[in-house]
Amino acid sequence: MTRKFFVGGNWKMNGDKKSLGELIQTMNGAKVDPNVEVVCGAPSIYLDFVRSKLDPKFGVAAQNCYKVPKGAFTGEISPAMIKDCGVNWVILGHSERRHVFGESDELIGQKTAHALENGLGVIACIGEKLDEREGGITEKVVFAQTKVIADNVKDWSKVVLAYEPVWAIGTGKTASPQQPATQCHLCNISVAEDQRSVTGGTCKELASQKDVDGFLVGGASLKPEFIDIINAKA
Ligand code: PGA
Repeated sequence: MTRKFFVGGNWKMNGDKKSLGELIQTMNGAKVDPNVEVVCGAPSIYLDFVRSKLDPKFGVAAQNCYKVPKGAFTGEISPAMIKDCGVNWVILGHSERRHVFGESDELIGQKTAHALENGLGVIACIGEKLDEREGGITEKVVFAQTKVIADNVKDWSKVVLAYEPVWAIGTGKTASPQQPATQCHLCNISVAEDQRSVTGGTCKELASQKDVDGFLVGGASLKPEFIDIINAKA
């Protein structure tokens, strides 16, 4: 089964009601390729706001969640709460969660299991750091990350695996389009490939690469060029 081309926008900790409202207006008014699945990762405090304003043809994702339904976990949100806001996706294991906030492979696996059990789609992120790539352990690292996720997945139709090399994120540069194919084969499963900072200018070439069946876009997803990225395959 071939997956629909997938374009995730990861807004990270950016925007406010005014700027996100403007972005949403641009998205709602744009002509977009109906064969692309689009999901926007909004800051948790704006999930309700974004879901209520964004055209229902676009999905919304939380950028994280915890591994249990409720309880004394200050600052956390659960898949049940995310669903209660009408939001059907969550991004898990983003490199900033792993490396700024110290989330382990094991925790990400547990979150994946709990999110899927509660009916959320999961955008699960994997990818090696620069020192790991230079140390020749890319495969080992990415395999370990993927295995823990895979061990917690029963139904892959609800999972998008996003390979994002950590050294590429937020660079604003684009790597050679062929770069991600290596890891893609390594994972040997359906992968939403992220190149270095996909932009409006590079998205078409990247989208045409064999084995690239999607993007997870950071910086450019906050700008009107996100529409060009959504339409990269059109
Ligand atoms: P970038 O971020 O597109 O700004 O490189 C991607 C991501 O972190 O998901």
